[in-house]
Amino acid sequence: MATFYLTTPIYYVNDRPHLGHAYTTIVADAMTRYRRLAGDEVRMLTGTDEHGEKIAQAAAKAGMTPQAMADQNSAAFRETWRALGIQYDDYIRTTEDRHKTVVRAMLQKLWDTGEIYLGTYGGHYCFGCERFYTEKEIVDGKCPDHLRPLEWIEEQNYFFKMSKYQAWLVDYIEHHPDFIRPERYRNEVLGFLRDPLQDLSISRPKTRVEWGIELPFDDKYVTYVWFDALLNYVSALGGPGDERFEKFWPHVQHVTGKDILKPHAIYWPCMLKAAELPLYQHLNVHGYWTLGGHKISKSIGNLVEALALKEKYSNDAFRYFVLREMSFGLDADFSEEGLVGRLNADLANDLGNLVSRATTLIVNCAGGTVPPPHESAAVFAALRGVPSLAQVFEKTRTDVARAMDAFAFHRALAAIWEFVGAVNRYVDSTQPWALAKEPERRAQLDTVLYSLAESLRLLGVALAPFLPDSALKIRQALGQTGDPKLSDATWGGLKAGTPVQKLSGLFPRIDDKKTAPAAAATTKPVGEDPPRITVADFGTIELRVAEVLAAEPVPKSKKLLKLTVDLGTEQRTVVAGIAEHYAPADLDGKKVVIVANLEPAKLMGVESNGMVLAGSADGTLAVLTVDRDLPPGAKVR
Ligand SMILES: [Zn+2]
Repeated sequence: MATFYLTTPIYYVNDRPHLGHAYTTIVADAMTRYRRLAGDEVRMLTGTDEHGEKIAQAAAKAGMTPQAMADQNSAAFRETWRALGIQYDDYIRTTEDRHKTVVRAMLQKLWDTGEIYLGTYGGHYCFGCERFYTEKEIVDGKCPDHLRPLEWIEEQNYFFKMSKYQAWLVDYIEHHPDFIRPERYRNEVLGFLRDPLQDLSISRPKTRVEWGIELPFDDKYVTYVWFDALLNYVSALGGPGDERFEKFWPHVQHVTGKDILKPHAIYWPCMLKAAELPLYQHLNVHGYWTLGGHKISKSIGNLVEALALKEKYSNDAFRYFVLREMSFGLDADFSEEGLVGRLNADLANDLGNLVSRATTLIVNCAGGTVPPPHESAAVFAALRGVPSLAQVFEKTRTDVARAMDAFAFHRALAAIWEFVGAVNRYVDSTQPWALAKEPERRAQLDTVLYSLAESLRLLGVALAPFLPDSALKIRQALGQTGDPKLSDATWGGLKAGTPVQKLSGLFPRIDDKKTAPAAAATTKPVGEDPPRITVADFGTIELRVAEVLAAEPVPKSKKLLKLTVDLGTEQRTVVAGIAEHYAPADLDGKKVVIVANLEPAKLMGVESNGMVLAGSADGTLAVLTVDRDLPPGAKVR
């Protein structure tokens, strides 16, 4: 049995929860549910970050004490996680004594070992961010985040000797390629580290900031909020020496948004190294949710009423949308139309209809109990020309495991939906309603119905980390009780005679006429036949198979997607006008066909080196893919 410890960042209590917080926490919840399903011993931590000047300011404005404000907003986060069905194991608050004790012990240790010194610091300070900015980071004399002028501040402070760990950290990241992932963030961190790393000011004079943890070796100062906050991952386990720490810390992974990459990827490893504690296994970094192309940020406002959509469309639909729509690591856009589109297509049509059809057939044609499979399901499937569902599920299981190892939630769900698609096609091909009319084909009918029931049972297990409520309903309809286990998800485990109940309306279809824009494109009539070309003419066009490594929206464009593709020998950027027809996450991992020798062109400021082939008719657009596996770069003719 493996051990797994996963943390979200602790959320800052100067504001209320928003979609960005919800996504991070849902991701952590889905991952820990998956690992628990797989039989691991799992611990998930979340909580709130409660010190610092911004809290003191916000509290003063609201006419409350900082502690009262922290209590109120920490409770709001906890309430949100309850409403979203998040199963965390521990919730830490940085104003708790258990946290303060560990922070003070750590500071004392670093002071005693000469890792901290008193110095003078002068710099451009943003009161919004509570941090100094380097010359390089300042945009027109303003904070790049708040777009407000910075103030020059000079003061005596304590510093952590972070600069001495620069060479070590670069070396560590280079030798541990998945320490920070996805790779784009690893590269970003290595980019930061090409500039000299400064020592980190870890104190604030009480004359300026009072709301914090007092330094154990100088009571005129409180601890800088990041140095305090990062230590929550350790303090929640009781700190070094505690049984929980010894057990879980060696297996820790963090999930975080890209806005707080630097503290997690640079300060934190250096702090751990200086304290002689093991580093985390992986830092898993996700991108931003945008709303109509704009970043959703607590500091700038523009919060989405995401939780209202959860009430409107169900918790599972909301979870599914955010996990499926965002390629983990890249930005994605949030919209009600997008959510309704996924809900209708993937959840209502593909999954909901399948569950309803299959359970109805079993109740109507087999008296509501699972019939025994009379002939080998695989042999039967082969006769009917459909793939064996047992084999398709085995592949799905492997693909999901691989995707979850890489924190690729969108790929895990795509893999499960491949199975859903295969089962739907199986129903269409085997036509159980027709078999039911021919008594001499009872054995075949039983085999088909058994396969459908078994497929639903497996879905009830595989979907549990992602759609916990619906997966439970599916398992219950199939007479399954107790906690699901991934080890039970093997074909043939379902016993004949198990009672089955009809389950319809798992995800009711939403009338999307009001939310979805009508498809505008129509096929233009062809006026003239295009001229004939020779084989030699055609030979001048270089067509190749390209694997999509990443797809992301082009800012300010409704139509364009920027694709990073692998051509076997090289990677390229190709801009494609398909954003109205494909969500970025749908293209991830797809093998498409591109014109590889097209002149480069700039589209909305992005240079495109090639063209993706797609067909369209009556407002539907489909990207060309290859129907057998070919390596990236394979020639097409
Ligand atoms: Zn700022």
